[in-house]
Amino acid sequence: MAKPKRFYVAGDPIKHSQSPMIHNEFASQFKMSIEYLKMEVSKNDLRQFLSKSVAEGISGINFTLPLKEEAYHLVDKHSRRAAFARAVNTIWMSGEDVCSDNTDGIGLVRDLEKNIGVSLGNKRVLIAGAGGAARGILGPVLDQLPSLVTVTNRTRERSVSLSALAPKKNVQVLDWGEESPEPFDLILNCTSLSLSGKEPNIKESSIHKGTVCYDLSYGHDLTSFEKWAFRVGATSVFNGLGMLVEQAAEAFYLWHGIFPDTAPVIEMLKRKNIPD
Ligand code: NDP
Repeated sequence: MAKPKRFYVAGDPIKHSQSPMIHNEFASQFKMSIEYLKMEVSKNDLRQFLSKSVAEGISGINFTLPLKEEAYHLVDKHSRRAAFARAVNTIWMSGEDVCSDNTDGIGLVRDLEKNIGVSLGNKRVLIAGAGGAARGILGPVLDQLPSLVTVTNRTRERSVSLSALAPKKNVQVLDWGEESPEPFDLILNCTSLSLSGKEPNIKESSIHKGTVCYDLSYGHDLTSFEKWAFRVGATSVFNGLGMLVEQAAEAFYLWHGIFPDTAPVIEMLKRKNIPD
């Protein structure tokens, strides 16, 4: 019998990663056998880890915090999404070349549009945060033709650099905590604030009664952003569990050429006690 293909998810820390469980669930939908392992890799060790994995015949690697930007510089080919974000979360081999993509943005868009039923077209969108996750989602969000995208971040220069990624599009910068002249239809929390239980500095007037609030972070309990959103009057509030599964599904498709059913895996994760 042929040996199962081997995949890694690499990051630091990595213990909490749900990716092996998600990819094994996808593989079992097609009665496939894969080997998908967690690898703790620091930024300093990434170059060596990548060349060793390639030499050993790895089929694919997912990169998570803090490796996505570093990995961008170590691969041979970038998809349009990876080139825009200058960060990669999925790689695979094509002949001698290491190819890369960034599936975070398409994962978010699919969760919003397919699972939650919220379209981005013609919407006023606020992106809170300007780190790696915000960079990963901006291109795919703009592809859905929102009427306006506003970026707000504690460190203003990073919002300015993020908006500069799309100079021909309507991307504005709002200072952290500044009042917006009009409320938003969709607020995407791309900060890591929920990881430390802190609330965002976003004015309550940013919300109208139909505003959808989405936290890229996730956990078993409501995140601090979700709690804030409910408190200031939002009723459509979601976390990033669906995005986690959808970005993994896109990586699975890039590796295997088949698209898994994400709904049962999202349901399974919702029932599981995922650490915050
Ligand atoms: P980064 O470290 O690259 O960026 C962190 C962001 O949070 C920056 O904008 C930073 O602002 C902001 N921030 C951190 N602390 C504070 C604070 N005290 N006050 C205000 N702003 C703060 O992280 P990522 O972009 O990679 O990840 C962000 C979040 O998205 C994480 O929680 C991660 O788990 C989640 N994520 C979820 C995914 C999913 O599939 N659901 C996929 C990818 C990420 P500043 O620039 O000022 O430092």
